[in-house]
Amino acid sequence: MMIKNTDSLQRSLIAIFGFTILSILVLTLLAYLQARTEEQNREMASLGNQKIVLVQSLVRSVVQAEASQRAYFLSGQPAYKEEVQDTVAQLGDEMAKLEQVDAMLPPASVNHTSRLLLLINKRVGQLESKLAMPFEQGLKAVTQSIQGQEGKQMMDGLRDIADQINQQERRFITERAAIANQSARQRIHLLLGAAILNLLLLSLAYRVVRKATDRNAQLLEEVNHKTSEIASINEFSSNLQSCSNVNEAHELFRHYMQRLFPECSGALYIMRSSRNLLHMATSWNEGDAAFEEAMEPRDCWALRRGKTHEIVDMNTELSCRHLNHDSRASLCVPLISQSETIGMLHLRLEDKKLLPAVRERSDSMIHHISAALSGIFLREALREHSIRDPMTQLFNRRYLEESIAREQVRARRNHSQFTVVMTDIDHFKTFNDTYGHQAGDAVIKAFASLLQNNLRGEDVICRYGGEEFLILLVGATHEQGMDRAEILRHTTTTLEVNLNGVSLPPISASWGVATFPTHGESWEGIISTADAALYLSKRNGRNRVSSATELTKPNVINADSVE
Ligand code: GH3
Ligand code: MG
Ligand code: MG
Repeated sequence: MMIKNTDSLQRSLIAIFGFTILSILVLTLLAYLQARTEEQNREMASLGNQKIVLVQSLVRSVVQAEASQRAYFLSGQPAYKEEVQDTVAQLGDEMAKLEQVDAMLPPASVNHTSRLLLLINKRVGQLESKLAMPFEQGLKAVTQSIQGQEGKQMMDGLRDIADQINQQERRFITERAAIANQSARQRIHLLLGAAILNLLLLSLAYRVVRKATDRNAQLLEEVNHKTSEIASINEFSSNLQSCSNVNEAHELFRHYMQRLFPECSGALYIMRSSRNLLHMATSWNEGDAAFEEAMEPRDCWALRRGKTHEIVDMNTELSCRHLNHDSRASLCVPLISQSETIGMLHLRLEDKKLLPAVRERSDSMIHHISAALSGIFLREALREHSIRDPMTQLFNRRYLEESIAREQVRARRNHSQFTVVMTDIDHFKTFNDTYGHQAGDAVIKAFASLLQNNLRGEDVICRYGGEEFLILLVGATHEQGMDRAEILRHTTTTLEVNLNGVSLPPISASWGVATFPTHGESWEGIISTADAALYLSKRNGRNRVSSATELTKPNVINADSVE
């Protein structure tokens, strides 16, 4: 992610600097062109001024040459003649200069210069021809020309053309000065614009670099955070492997969950060996009271579907029953070991936006610790697979099945019989829901003691499921079994259970009795027949004993539903 970020930073910077360089080049070129236009126009204006001065000087020189000629013919002094000749020579120089200047100026719409030069040349020619005449003849010609006003007319024409040139050039000078001034102003604007644009681009580059630096710092922090998270998960996993029992594992869970999920509260639920109940093993960050003490697998969608279930909005998503209308975002992660659900991790959090990150972290954690967890639960399962139920100290199902199989072999050999009594506490779910799970546990323990106290030592009493028990009455006939079951049923209704000094309401149980070989030829068949008899008792109103014999009556066969 960091590399991608660096790449995009580089691309942005290259784009910004590329654009900056391009804009500098374009603006410099434009400024240069403006400067050139200004310079050219100022040069033209200066040439225009020179032209005006030259034209005025030419007119003055022609007037001077005429005056000197008149003075020569009036006084007869040769100095005036020389003066005329000098002035004519000077006129030649000035005319050449005017031609040069004119060539450098752009061609005007009306070219007065050539007319002016033509007239001057004509006038000079006249002056020179009169000077070349013998004095008397020249004097006469000059006098005639003065009287005929020929010279005056020519001079007037000359002044006219000079005035026109003057006016035309002044107009041009004004126009060129205006263009030059405009170019200068535009250059200033361009330079100002360039400065502003470059400042903007620089600030943009700064912002891009700043953003990328901030993002990199943030990414680095995330990486550090992730690294320490992974270290914690690994530590958690290796500590779990050294746990000697589940209680230690629960403590560890609590400790690491507080460390790894400080933004969440939560609880760890463990599946009971009965497989129809999960109890809360530990909770963190909120107190046990905030969570359901126990739940059935069907109360949680994660357990039902075998995959993580998250709820962001209770109103729009499938909500688990164990949430009890808690409106916070929540996550339920099933703990599955060797394709068997062993528990459920439940997390709650206020800030719904954090849920995806929490889910990712919890998935990664469960993935890492599942092997260690499975080891602990396997050890625990092995312990449970020993012969006794840890809660009631009655024999467990596995032991019962081994005993009954043995008993069947003996009965077949001796042509004797044995009787199985199956019992289930009535409405126990309601009891749990009303008085709490702890009260339920107390009742199960008391009921187990009751069974032990009212049966013979050789009978095998087993906790078959959650609140379901199975008794193997060794060598007992069906009648003996029915009698024993009836005594147990009655005693159950008189059972008194106290929890923390408070006495709990009385309970009852339903019973089913089946005997080998009368009701079946295999111990499995006998157990399921006893079970069917028990459900017959349930259906008939509970708190009663039913014999397997009743199952064969037409109106009870295939009874399969209990309300
Ligand atoms: P019925 O009279 O038909 O037997 O109704 P029930 O409510 O007893 O039967 P159901 O099978 O619906 O519920 C059995 C309940 O027993 C479900 C579970 O909450 C509870 N349970 C199972 N094992 C334990 C346990 O170890 N401790 C406690 N407290 N409750 C348990
Ligand atoms: Mg029950
Ligand atoms: Mg039951």
